[in-house]
Amino acid sequence: MNIAMTERKPAAAQSLKDRVSLVTGSTSGIGLGIARALAGAGSAIVLNGFGKPEEIEAVQDGVAKDFGVHVAYSGADMSNPASIAEMVEMTLDQFGRIDILVNNAGIQHVAPLQEFPVAKWDAILAINLSSAFHTTRLSLPAMIANKWGRIINIASAHGLVGSAYKSAYVAAKHGMLGLTKVTALETAEQGITCNAICPGYVYTPLVEAQIEGQAKAHGIPREQVIREVLLAQQPNKRFATVDELGAFAVFLASDAAASITGTSIAVDGGWTAH
Ligand code: NAD
Repeated sequence: MNIAMTERKPAAAQSLKDRVSLVTGSTSGIGLGIARALAGAGSAIVLNGFGKPEEIEAVQDGVAKDFGVHVAYSGADMSNPASIAEMVEMTLDQFGRIDILVNNAGIQHVAPLQEFPVAKWDAILAINLSSAFHTTRLSLPAMIANKWGRIINIASAHGLVGSAYKSAYVAAKHGMLGLTKVTALETAEQGITCNAICPGYVYTPLVEAQIEGQAKAHGIPREQVIREVLLAQQPNKRFATVDELGAFAVFLASDAAASITGTSIAVDGGWTAH
């Protein structure tokens, strides 16, 4: 392509100006990293998730102050379809649109199949998978009306491969990839894309707590816990950061990614290349 065929785009810093992003499970960890990155690109943000009211207020104020965008919050429980509907309604009432939907809320429980608590199975399927069905079906009319939308599903390396004792999580994350494909197929001509990101281990406060806990439990140094326990499956032996995932989500939300749809992208340091 010669230079005359390229088009000057606004600075990447404001590439999502006038967009509205709803990020589920964004009061901490990956969801918050993605919300901050989208805000950094100029998008208004609807945060969602649990936490102490004063901590949530600090997160909401922090994103608004750091990036100068409008930040709303919904405490909707992603295991409850009625509560999800209220969150989407609140977003449409406040902003009149939803452009970018990030389905990120998720929980984990580890137990052998024969002992797996039924209530935990139901909760993981509801929060990690069904919530994305509900947010998607409820957001699509607004995206279709605008002929533009980006749906980003946060799956996992466990959407591509299994691990023992994580039946519900692995089933939900594999299901997320199926939902991603169907959403992409049904919206392909509407200016909407839907993709899944499949992270390996990402450095979050929860992971930090696991490093500390395992180091104490086994009486081994942090570095050994990281290399031999947590990152045993991850060839690059480093955690991805929430900033890396945020930057990737901003790219998927950009016009440059208009033809990327129905796919899953591993961000796992080579884990699933085995
Ligand atoms: P986290 O525990 O730090 O954050 C989870 C967020 O979801 C929080 O904001 C929490 O309040 C919210 N949440 C939990 N249950 C909810 C509910 N019922 N309703 C509304 N919000 C709820 O976790 P994280 O590590 O940032 O994980 C985020 C997503 O990324 C999850 O889907 C997880 O499966 C996925 N993931 C994480 C990693 C990792 O290494 N951290 C790796 C692969 C995939």
